[in-house]
This record gives sequence, structure tokens and C-alpha cells, in this order.
Amino acid sequence: KSVTFLKYPQEYPVPGEHFAVETNELHVELKEGDVLLRNLYISLDPYMRGKMRNAKSYTAGFQIGKTMDASGVSEVIESKNATFPVGTVVTGFVGWEQYSVISGAQGLRPIANPRNPKIPLSSYVGVLGMPGLTAYSSLKIIGQPKSGETIFISAASGAVGQIVGQISKRLGLRVVGSAGSDEKVDFLLKELKFDAAFNYKKGSILENLRAAAPEGVDIYFENVGGETLEAALEMMNTHGRIIACGMISVYNTTTPYGVRNLFHIIGKRITIRGFIVSDFAQECGTDFAKDVGSWLANGDIIYKEDIADGIDNAPDAFVGMLQGKNFGKQVVKIADL
Ligand code: NDP
Repeated sequence: KSVTFLKYPQEYPVPGEHFAVETNELHVELKEGDVLLRNLYISLDPYMRGKMRNAKSYTAGFQIGKTMDASGVSEVIESKNATFPVGTVVTGFVGWEQYSVISGAQGLRPIANPRNPKIPLSSYVGVLGMPGLTAYSSLKIIGQPKSGETIFISAASGAVGQIVGQISKRLGLRVVGSAGSDEKVDFLLKELKFDAAFNYKKGSILENLRAAAPEGVDIYFENVGGETLEAALEMMNTHGRIIACGMISVYNTTTPYGVRNLFHIIGKRITIRGFIVSDFAQECGTDFAKDVGSWLANGDIIYKEDIADGIDNAPDAFVGMLQGKNFGKQVVKIADL
């Protein structure tokens, strides 16, 4: 089974209309260097919505009629590649599918100890994968965090946000988060030990933020855009930094909210910098793997995942993630190791 991209959506993609699960017969003839993978987990991420657009972007779009791709964790079950013998567990780009042939084993990396009870395999597409590196690297390089400062994080209980929050606490920042349900807010306060958090769907975002960060905001970790960005600009302190990671509130609408107070960037001398995680992989990849790997193994950070069961549920889980139905990093479990 695999998930095929069918049609460009204008607003939220609809399973069955814009993408759908299909059943194919598996015919495998490996060439020298190739491997056949049995996929165990795939990651569902907001950037994939950008690949459903018929426009030029920093990453190639999904192709109509073709299987969609994702980062995954997989087991090699047939191999013509001596570096990846049968039984090796790997991470890399695969399809939204049960089995993938990876030509020349391109981009695959072996996982050293796949049965480590302290590190679930799904971590390799979450806290130890792209979302973790996103949080770690951009907070350090763009955020320039200093102990005692206040950081505000939107989509704070999500794949990236929950790591930004926990690293910020370790660095001695005052951590404020927003999320889309009371249950998520409780998680931020009670389990991640945020200093303040609010449900952005209840009351005015600006008034909620003002109450949560009465001394203002030094760093805004921007995941959502729109009205939340407007509130953050209002509350930013002089020389504040905005880490422009994502703006999910505009990904699925043709009528985005128009932010009205960009002028604050000037008077408050705000630095706002966008980035794509790959920009920082070289500079931060090694430290990230060492630091976050040991924090996770020691239980110094926790990581909440939302695991959909089976490839059949991947399309609904993807749309659910775009709508905030996920609680933690959205992954799909396709098979057991
Ligand atoms: P999450 O796990 O946070 O899932 C997405 C969340 O976005 C939802 O759970 C929902 O949470 C929130 N959301 C959805 N719609 C809205 C809306 N209209 N307004 C406010 N919040 C909304 O995803 P990630 O942590 O993987 O991604 C977070 C952001 O980071 C995204 O914008 C993504 O594009 C970006 N990103 C950027 C990268 C880069 O290289 N620049 C790399 C990785 C991610 P809630 O219930 O709280 O509303």
C-alpha cells in the first residue's frame, strides 16, 4: 500500500480527493547498490503542505500520480549494498508506503542501536530528527538566548515547539507558550514546566500574551503567523529576535490574516530571520545529536508523540495535524521491527 498524490488542494487537503491510499503489487528487482526497505515509521510534517502546491519552492513538490515522500525509519529486508546488509535499521527519505526501493541506498543512515529501550525508533524522525534539529539550531543561532530573557513559543506543544521550550528552560529563560486546547496548555505547564501558557482559541491572543509575559518578549519562536505574530510584535522588547520557523495559519487558506503592525520591527530594532533547517545541519548537526541524544536517554527532556496506526490512516492523520488534532509529533507507525 502507498499514498499517491492526486490533485493540488486550495485549502485543507481532502483524503480521497487530493491524496489517497492505493494497493499495488510489489515487483522488486534490485540493481547493484539498491536496497528494499520495510518501512516502520514515517513522519508527517507541515512542510509537506507546501509540497502540495504547483509553485517553485525550496523543496521539490509532490508529483501528481506519484507516491508522496517522507522521512522514515525502516528495516532493510533485501540488499545489494554491502554497507546496508539485511536487518540494518535505517533513517532516510522513503515513500508514504509499506515498502520502498532506495536506489543506491541514497541518503540512508544506519541506526546504531535500534533496540535501545530508552530511544524509541520513532524518535529518529522527531526529537532526534528534523524537528529536533530545527528547534536546537535555530534557537541557538537566530535566538541568541540569554538566561533571564523571556521566550514566547507558538504551536508550543508540537513537534518543534516542545523541544524549543525544554531547551529554553535548561538555558534559564522564562518560557511562555500558546497552543490550541486546554489539554495542550496543561501539558506545557505541568509536564514541560513552562512558566506560563495559554489557549489561543480562548479570548484575545494579545491580552493573553500580555498577561503571560508582562515584562515583554525577548525571543519569539514563530510557528504560526497571523494574529499571533501581530500580538508578538506588540509585546516584543527592544532588540528582540523573531525566529521565523513557520506560519502554519496561512498554509491552508486563500485569505490569510493581514498583520498590521510590522512597523514595530523598526522602532524596537527587532531582528526577524527566516531559515530552513538544512541551513544549519552542518554547523549544528554534531552538537545536536550529542546534546539532545544524551538529554533524551537521561530523561532530561521528554517528547510527546502522536502515533497514527497503519498507512491507511496516514492521509487523515496528515490533515488532522494541519488542523491541530495531533498532540505532539505526528508520526505513522506502519510496522513493528
Ligand atoms: P506541530 O507538531 O506543531 O503541528 C502543527 C500544529 O500547528 C498543530 O498541532 C496546531 O497546534 C498548529 N496550528 C495549526 N493550524 C493553526 C492555526 N491556524 N493557528 C495556530 N496554530 C495552528 O508541527 P511542527 O512542530 O512540525 O511544525 C511547527 C511549525 O514549524 C510549522 O509552521 C512548520 O512549517 C515549521 N517548521 C519549519 C521548519 C524550517 O526548517 N523552517 C522545519 C520544521 C517545521 P495547536 O493545536 O496548538 O493549534
